Amino acid sequence: MSESQNAAINPFETALKQLDEAAKLINLDKGLHEVLAHPKRVLTVSLPVKMDNGEIKVFTGYRSQHNDARGPYKGGIRYHPQVTIDEVKALSMWMTWKCAIADIPYGGGKGGIICNPKEMSVGELERLTRRYAYAIADIIGPRTDIPAPDVYTGGREMAWIMDTYSALKGNYVQPEIITGKPLAVGGSLGRNEATGRGLSFTVREAAKKLKVNMKNTTVAVQGFGNAGQFASQLVEELGATVIAASDSQGGVYNKNGINVASLRKHKEKTRAVGGFSGTKSITNEELLELDCTILIPAALENQITAKNAGNIKAKIVAEAANGPTTPEADDVLYKNKILVIPDVLANGGGVTVSYFEWLQNLRRDYWTEDEVNQRLDKNVTKAFLDVYETHEKYGVNMRKASTVLAVNRVVEAIKIRGLWP
Ligand code: NAD
Repeated sequence: MSESQNAAINPFETALKQLDEAAKLINLDKGLHEVLAHPKRVLTVSLPVKMDNGEIKVFTGYRSQHNDARGPYKGGIRYHPQVTIDEVKALSMWMTWKCAIADIPYGGGKGGIICNPKEMSVGELERLTRRYAYAIADIIGPRTDIPAPDVYTGGREMAWIMDTYSALKGNYVQPEIITGKPLAVGGSLGRNEATGRGLSFTVREAAKKLKVNMKNTTVAVQGFGNAGQFASQLVEELGATVIAASDSQGGVYNKNGINVASLRKHKEKTRAVGGFSGTKSITNEELLELDCTILIPAALENQITAKNAGNIKAKIVAEAANGPTTPEADDVLYKNKILVIPDVLANGGGVTVSYFEWLQNLRRDYWTEDEVNQRLDKNVTKAFLDVYETHEKYGVNMRKASTVLAVNRVVEAIKIRGLWP
């Protein structure tokens, strides 16, 4: 799925603006503000790859390591034609905040390669991935920087990276170098569902705060992909009624409810939600403005904007997608007393189970799915309550509260460790 940033918006400038706002709220020391405004290291690598036609093509890749005050850098690797160094830098800063909010002992990192995986063969992708792993091998490591999947990468690429790294660094298997692996090579149970499951826990806690009974809630989901499908299924298990869902081709709606398991089967068979029996079709724009209790944007960035924010009727917006709400829209939603559970909190279940995977790898001791889910619940619930408390304490929206909480935690670690050399 394309996650390209809106060309007009430089994501690193957005990230810096968010940091400025948080710094102002907490009266952050100027020097420490400067430290956080700069990634510690950004590596650019050239990746020569032999293509299937025999020609050599050189790709460009990046790895940005933003901050490791609280633990090793952590963050995904993205394959996309529109990857830029500023996007990777911004994403690495957001990972620092996301890990701090989840209170897991990681800092923030991110990687990316400028390429179009849709136009490459499996062989070309494998050679590119192994070349990238080789090129960044000296700055990543099980105790220094642990990558993961992101846009257009998954278990397959993670396994290639693990294999390459293991061969290069001692020639023994080191699953703890990367997360998001297939189960057969050290992946964790519950990882596929983790983002949706974590999101459902944040929704449950938000409903409690707003004194809304989950059984009386209705839900609309934009983007019925990995995150959206599991989020739908899990809020349904909590008692909610899903009334609308969509994908890139449009959406379906039934005010009396849609059975999520059946819709998933339909989507698997026809590759789209459209045409699902008992529903009428709606556009993605209409879905966002539906009369419902909970809106879950789980597709692309910049979906809720100054233009449509005033028409949003949901009481809770839970962001499965990264960056679905623009800053102007955020202000409108806050004014209209809509509780936004921001991406860094709502989709933090993914990185939390990545952390569990790493713990299991380090000890070669594997947990049951129940154990993973219970720990995830405990962790995500605490993260939600911490952000909510910060939101009340500072009188700011949940997104600003998330950054404030994260910056405070990272700064505390920097101060305690001190500056050396
Ligand atoms: P995915 O590719 O599995 O699903 C995306 C879905 O969005 C697809 O069904 C696609 O058809 C739909 N879509 C595309 N364009 C659309 C449009 N214009 N309107 C409505 N729907 C559209 O991707 P995913 O893994 O579910 O990721 C979705 C979002 O969640 C991304 O922003 C991603 O960064 C974020 N996220 C995902 C995870 C995860 O673990 N999967 C973790 C953190 C964040």
